[in-house]
Amino acid sequence: MQKMYELAIIGAGPAGIGTAIESYTLGMRNIVMLEKDDNHNSTIRKFYKDNKRVDRDWKGQKVDLDGTIYFVDGTKESTLDYFDTLLDNESIELKTHDEVQKITKRDDGFEIFMGGESILARYVVVTIGRMGKPNKPEYKFPPSIKNVIQFTLDGCGTGEKIMVIGGGDSAIEYAVELCDRNDVTICYRRDTFSRANPINQANIAKAIGEGHLIAMLNTEIKELEADSGRVKVIFSDGYWELYDRLIYAIGGTTPSGFLRDSGIKEENGLPVHDEHYQTNIPGLFVAGDITQESGGSIALGLNHGFAIASYIRALSK
Ligand SMILES: Cc1cc2nc3c(=O)[nH]c(=O)nc-3n(C[C@H](O)[C@H](O)[C@H](O)COP(=O)(O)OP(=O)(O)OC[C@H]3O[C@@H](n4cnc5c(N)ncnc54)[C@H](O)[C@@H]3O)c2cc1C
Repeated sequence: MQKMYELAIIGAGPAGIGTAIESYTLGMRNIVMLEKDDNHNSTIRKFYKDNKRVDRDWKGQKVDLDGTIYFVDGTKESTLDYFDTLLDNESIELKTHDEVQKITKRDDGFEIFMGGESILARYVVVTIGRMGKPNKPEYKFPPSIKNVIQFTLDGCGTGEKIMVIGGGDSAIEYAVELCDRNDVTICYRRDTFSRANPINQANIAKAIGEGHLIAMLNTEIKELEADSGRVKVIFSDGYWELYDRLIYAIGGTTPSGFLRDSGIKEENGLPVHDEHYQTNIPGLFVAGDITQESGGSIALGLNHGFAIASYIRALSK
């Protein structure tokens, strides 16, 4: 007979870990977390720059923590260490390199499919975030220069002419980080950086004021062309400029294919769920960034995890 887990969590980011730890704390055992990457928190590992300041009140949103996890301001490294400690202290099985393709409902729970194999669980929580597919603009990326059009800081060197596209906290943090050792322009379609948190607003104002960074506000890109290995950025007013590298920091998308294959309904681009984060399929929940159009945060994901853990505990009594 195949083992039946009590709880399976798909994705080991903050929302997944929050759900796992809070469920364990409330007495649930037999919990498994399935992560497609080689370790937990692949969004933090890939998209946060090294030594990044991690704000608890991300994007200026103050979120009071409901559960037992004590998450405070820190850095990328201290945050990952903290999640390591949480997982070390509790008996939660973390299976890595296990990308879940779909979930199907059975009479006694769910079957979760990863590659050629599957596991069974009574309850399932989907916490796969939105950064598996970062947002892309509508215009095309010329294939010959795709290696210098990216969504993280990977491969950025020194002395390059770089354009960062976006105007939220992530874009500002990338631009400010790079501008010490590169010639950086930030291109944003709005006229101010007012959506960013106050620290990032102050940092970008300082970098611009001191001449380390150029801001192109109210600016839309029309298309990109390849030009001898560089990127020719053509703006909607016809003006163009050449760059060595482009970095897009414009958020992520809902994993609609995954939701559809698992029978989870979507409305207005987001998975449908009730106040307990339970989807249209009883016993199948969603938590974290996947429930947000934008504006998800670590603290919010932890709170979703606590809410789901508390609800499942009440159901199991
Ligand atoms: C550049 C940047 C800076 C940020 N800075 C902050 C900050 O300072 N403070 C803050 O609170 N928030 C910050 N955020 C937001 C924060 O990182 C997210 O809100 C948070 O990570 C969301 O947690 P999550 O668990 O919902 O999803 P994620 O963290 O995205 O985790 C999802 C996990 O699921 C895995 N996964 C995906 N698909 C599958 C699959 N099919 N099968 C198995 N596993 C899968 C992924 O590999 C990943 O590990 C930042 C985000 C970015 C991009």
